[in-house]
Amino acid sequence: MTLSYREMAAGDINKPVQERKRVDSKTRNTSSTRLRAMHDLLLAKYGEQRWWPARSQFEVILGAYLTQNTAWTSVERSLANLRAAGAMTVDGIRHAEIQELTEWIRPSGFHTRKAPAIKAFIELLDRNFKGSLAKMRRTPTAILRPQLLALPGVGPETADAILLYAFGHPVPVADEYFRRIADRHGLIPSKGVRLRYDDLTKLTDQAFAHEPKDKRAGQFNEFHALIVAVGKAHCSRTPDCAHCPLRYDLRRAHTDQQT
Ligand code: SF4
Repeated sequence: MTLSYREMAAGDINKPVQERKRVDSKTRNTSSTRLRAMHDLLLAKYGEQRWWPARSQFEVILGAYLTQNTAWTSVERSLANLRAAGAMTVDGIRHAEIQELTEWIRPSGFHTRKAPAIKAFIELLDRNFKGSLAKMRRTPTAILRPQLLALPGVGPETADAILLYAFGHPVPVADEYFRRIADRHGLIPSKGVRLRYDDLTKLTDQAFAHEPKDKRAGQFNEFHALIVAVGKAHCSRTPDCAHCPLRYDLRRAHTDQQT
């Protein structure tokens, strides 16, 4: 018989899952320690992931838009179209007609929404940063992040992916895999409610809080990539806990819920 992750966490298939407690600082400290241990184990097992899979800073930015609600294989087809059209540059997108941009990125889906969103990014770049990615990159996170978030088609995950992977700002990124893992391991009590993005990134921040600040961006970079790696390999809608390296933590999750 294959046990579910809840059953593994409970250690007894007949026990009901414990109701989760409120987030308090003690829980968060415990969870951040566990999360850090999970990261260290994944790093030892999978090695450095060296993200983002892109050839240039601007390609990272385009990829962050294109990957929304889409598998990376589809993104690669769009990126190949952009390359073939010679449009994989700020100038290339700036001078492209919206119809041709829409056509190039069609393989990654939601192209009628993503094309104007990418154009809006270029408008922001031209308006506030004189068209310079270097100038945008040098802008403090606290000033740049709200500007990115104000753009159409940019939520926290896209904004943070651009900040971290294109510009090297030390901000954590949380995605659906991390949300699922944090929920299944009870790292943040949810009471059945979808975990908030900000709670996920705060927890990541805490997991690396004792590291030197200049190392933080590199660690957030690897952390997110490792979470995606384990998520893809094991933590899909139907979790494969039996073969997952993070299985050891499920019993810890149950212990924490009981104390
Ligand atoms: S991360 Fe691994 S052990 Fe944890 S719930 Fe997902 S598949 Fe199971």
